[in-house]
Amino acid sequence: MRVARRLETVWIGLACWLGLAIGVAGAQEEYFELRGAVHLHTNYSTGKKETIAEIAQKAKEHGVDVLIFTEDDILQVRYGLPLLRDLLGFTYTEPAPITDGALGEYFEEIQRVGAKHPELIMFGGIESNPFYYWEVDLAALTWTMHSFDKHIIALGMDKVEEYAQLPVIHGKGNERWDWSSLLLLWPLIGVAYGLFLGASHPRGLRLGVLIVSTLCLINNFPFKVTYMDQYNGDPGSGPYQHYIDYVNRHGGLVLWPHLEAKSAIPPTDFLGGLFHFASITEPHPEDLVDTYDYAGFAALYADNITATEPGHQWDIVLGQYLAGQRAKPIWGEGEIDYHYDQKGGRIHDILTVFLVKDRTREAVMDALRQGRMYAVRGGDEQLVLDTFEVESEIRRGIAGEEIPSQGLARISMRIDKLNGKQEEVKLRLIKTGEVLAEFSGLTPLEFQQVDTGIHPGEKVYYRLMAQSRTARLTSNPIFVTGVEGVP
Ligand SMILES: [Zn+2]
Repeated sequence: MRVARRLETVWIGLACWLGLAIGVAGAQEEYFELRGAVHLHTNYSTGKKETIAEIAQKAKEHGVDVLIFTEDDILQVRYGLPLLRDLLGFTYTEPAPITDGALGEYFEEIQRVGAKHPELIMFGGIESNPFYYWEVDLAALTWTMHSFDKHIIALGMDKVEEYAQLPVIHGKGNERWDWSSLLLLWPLIGVAYGLFLGASHPRGLRLGVLIVSTLCLINNFPFKVTYMDQYNGDPGSGPYQHYIDYVNRHGGLVLWPHLEAKSAIPPTDFLGGLFHFASITEPHPEDLVDTYDYAGFAALYADNITATEPGHQWDIVLGQYLAGQRAKPIWGEGEIDYHYDQKGGRIHDILTVFLVKDRTREAVMDALRQGRMYAVRGGDEQLVLDTFEVESEIRRGIAGEEIPSQGLARISMRIDKLNGKQEEVKLRLIKTGEVLAEFSGLTPLEFQQVDTGIHPGEKVYYRLMAQSRTARLTSNPIFVTGVEGVP
């Protein structure tokens, strides 16, 4: 009994000490910044020109600490005519690690080069196009491919085989044997007719049936069925959610890249104008709202972005989190979508700045999972968010954190240029989907905003967007939950 009571005292003491420790945590100065280039292509696929080693060298020259490679797994398009889809049709394939049998080599090469540059943190992921579909007008001989450039990124899974099995339309993860595979054996009936059953029928008919049935049997080999195919129109967000769920089950995380890029191959004629082909992928920021349990999205990339504007898709999903409709918030990051060293697409032009306590891959992944990061665009002119903190009566919090408040939130911000130059910057402080305050001034720019009246049980968040003539910055939100004051 006495032992139990003494233990209880120890526990209470420990809890108080922990409470104090938590009370003083959450200050940005406890972390240091690692500048990360996210979404890199290499000579393994669409990057074509530069090797992983060359990209690592460029990163060092431009002060980039983290390299996250995201090669395309499979770049393939197929169309087959009904009934003989695999025999009568076309397949177009571009180089990519899975189709080239180089997936293992790609991950090994990142490790090998990473070992040569211990000052860099390098790791690999995969960019997939899980799905696309055809709109075909056979009368007009027109083929239109939809959503081929609707991409999604998987990171943080441990095994190469887990990437090899990603549920993408032309990947192994889309195929399986099950009872309906038996239905694909239907041509055996025709084969049997040609060989035995039709013995009393004309020889020509039997031979014809035998040939067609054998072709169909070959077409259906190896009798696997697929979860999804490109011939049944638009299934909405289903294939993408299926992909997200797979990656989460295997301990990884998913990012949505370039949601608002519009990409199109305009109608092109083939065989002297006999066939017409087009490819259309519409901007699709609504996928932020329509899918669940992904970790983040490209809040800055080389395009105009509207999903991050106050009240748009990002704020809608963050609002769903506040309302308990999502398990976790969705974080914004910066993606360079690097293919080679080009104007506007240099390795350091768009970065994710991770706030970490250790210079390790685990610390970077943790920052990515917890939203302890911000996105910058501007290359040599990039902005630095020295401070973005919210302080209540109880504690301080930084991006990605959630703090309790008895009514007060003091938001502190300090923004500067990495190169120390002076430049006019415009800032928007966004509270739960609406602009709370706007500021502008020359860098280094520092200010505070005090927000009051956060009621017990109320949940809000604050996030920051900055813009100058040469640069942009988008922060992640800091959450505040109202609690009862001390009576
Ligand atoms: Zn890409």
